[in-house]
Amino acid sequence: MREISVVLPAYNEEENIRPVVEKIYRYLLKKFKTFEIIVVNDGSRDGTEAEVRQMMKRVSQLKLINHPANRGYGAALRSGFYAAKYPWVFYTDSDGQFEIADLEKLLPLTDKYDIVAGYRVNRQDPLMRIFIARVYNLVIRLALGLSIRDVDCAFKIYRKRVFEKIKLMSETGLVDAEVLVKAKCAGFTIGQTGVRHFPRTRGQTIYEVGGRNKFFAFVKPAVVINLLKEIMALRRQLV
Ligand code: UDP
Ligand code: MG
Repeated sequence: MREISVVLPAYNEEENIRPVVEKIYRYLLKKFKTFEIIVVNDGSRDGTEAEVRQMMKRVSQLKLINHPANRGYGAALRSGFYAAKYPWVFYTDSDGQFEIADLEKLLPLTDKYDIVAGYRVNRQDPLMRIFIARVYNLVIRLALGLSIRDVDCAFKIYRKRVFEKIKLMSETGLVDAEVLVKAKCAGFTIGQTGVRHFPRTRGQTIYEVGGRNKFFAFVKPAVVINLLKEIMALRRQLV
């Protein structure tokens, strides 16, 4: 693989976006002939956009998509996926919870699969969120018939062709499951491999209540309700 698009959704990541983009940029320079890094600024109200614009002066491969208001993780990823121009599209989060060097683990599998999904080997989130994620993976398996170890792991690479074939509607984090289930229905194959995960050290996730508490960071009720609504809508679409 010589050409790659990297999509980074970002909401209020002013403290993370620069180190994350710089690290990814240095890695891509070494490994790829041609690449683009697309930051989707999802209506941040902090200095995220300013940070990206400043880096763009030096890095010609860096692109910015701006959502005027916050639209959600799914909307952010969709904007990035459909804007990507190279044959392989990789995405990860812009909060530093993943290590770009782990792309090395995904790449060999692209010979065999149209999509390679990472799974977090030792997920570094509050225990309650890890438990909720297990339930979520089960719900996705039962409701959508999709058996994936870690549906929400923000470390996946897709053939761009996937996005030419399927239409996405998720505004929420369901987007991960939606891409996989629709791609599977369209005949694309999915491989999986383990990747590392790190605690969030800067900025704040919008999904949790309970702050930095290691055990009791619950997912916000509104997040769960929106997710369930979208799961039902997706189920109706699939049948
Ligand atoms: N994000 C986004 N729009 C949103 C919420 C989050 O673009 O409405 C971005 C956020 O900046 C981060 C990624 O999506 O890069 C994942 O969010 P977060 O780290 O809060 O989720 P978690 O890792 O806790 O599941
Ligand atoms: Mg995160």
